[in-house]
Amino acid sequence: MTIIYLDNAATTRTSVTALDAMREVYVGDAFANPASQHASGDAALRVLESSRRRIAERLHARPSEVEFTSCGSEANNQALLTGAAYGEREGRRHIVASAIEHPSVLRMLELLASPDGPYGGNFEVTLVKPDANGLVGVADVKAAMRPDTCLVSLMYANNEVGAVQPVRDVCRMARKRGALFHTDAVQVTGHLPIDFTRDGFDLLTLSAHKFHGPRGMGALVCSHRVAPASLVLGGAQERGHRAGTSNVAGAAGMAAALDEACEKLEANTSQVEALHERFVRGLASIEGAHVLGPTEPSLRLPGIVAITLDGVDHQRSLVLLDELGICLNAGSACAAGALEESHVLAAMGISSEVGRTYLRVSLDAEENDETDVDRAVEAIATVAARLRKQGETLPAQPHVSANPPSDAPLGGDAR
Ligand SMILES: *Cc1c(COP(=O)(O)O)cnc(C)c1O
Repeated sequence: MTIIYLDNAATTRTSVTALDAMREVYVGDAFANPASQHASGDAALRVLESSRRRIAERLHARPSEVEFTSCGSEANNQALLTGAAYGEREGRRHIVASAIEHPSVLRMLELLASPDGPYGGNFEVTLVKPDANGLVGVADVKAAMRPDTCLVSLMYANNEVGAVQPVRDVCRMARKRGALFHTDAVQVTGHLPIDFTRDGFDLLTLSAHKFHGPRGMGALVCSHRVAPASLVLGGAQERGHRAGTSNVAGAAGMAAALDEACEKLEANTSQVEALHERFVRGLASIEGAHVLGPTEPSLRLPGIVAITLDGVDHQRSLVLLDELGICLNAGSACAAGALEESHVLAAMGISSEVGRTYLRVSLDAEENDETDVDRAVEAIATVAARLRKQGETLPAQPHVSANPPSDAPLGGDAR
């Protein structure tokens, strides 16, 4: 059975270009520790710094503004700490973020606001809800801001419904009021053009594995105007802002993947847009299938199609689709293996009953073609018909099993 991979917003296949660049580091002269004062260390340092320059160039940032991290989640954590440190210095104790941010933003905000947390607990957080299409309004962010707001964090595009947020306008508005602006650009990097300097962003997060680079490699772009707070303490790597022996191969793979994605950006975008539209057209023939998120192409990330299927529980449809070789997603899985209710859909005002039928298809130009789209539509139609016929419609079985398997990861939170 051929497997059709439609979960590219969760991770992408690492490109041959990225793998080649990484292999060259691992087996060539640049495998050494770039902090070491010898020829091999120098070779590693050259690769690390040229990777940084290439990434900076693609994002229109300065090389000194690009700091490598171990993932996008870490960069998000660090961005928020940086905003909080700025707030401490300025006597500002309020943070504004959207309610549909990635958990690596939301969990860190909880910690910053928690009286028991390690960060003083003296921050107040306002979460701004999006509209029914998952779009956050500039006016709503403005209304949430206070004179003591130190940081506004708004993702560039949402990973569950693909809504592209008004980050430029919100950035301008936030900075005019003396707050820093952070954007989680993980879903758009390599897919939409990013101009860090022109748009005046203070902090921007990226993650290599969402654009065919390696997993476990991220970066925080931090404006030269802003002093980054450190999350990982130890050695003086990354200008003293992020300890840990540099992942030179990861940086090389990330740079290679970003170069490739940016070179193919326009061609890939139009290809994914065509696949996206083909998929949406196909869905129109399935009874009770609805597409969530903005319909206006400029307001949605091409490739992310969020759907709901009337009366079809995603716990069941995902299993059947998987049996048909279709890999897609329905949000994050909680420790018991059941699907958690999506905080994004809930914030959009979608009931948990409807939310339980949500499926996310994420298409990619390198990975998918028209046949994939047609087979996926067919499979979704088959599965929906089968589940409805069996009468296995909502309300279905309880979503959290009473007896989780004994080999379930301890405190596991598999997102
Ligand atoms: C995947 C993702 C992240 C996390 O990136 P990791 O490198 O997997 O930690 C953060 N934000 C968004 C929007 C994402 O889609």
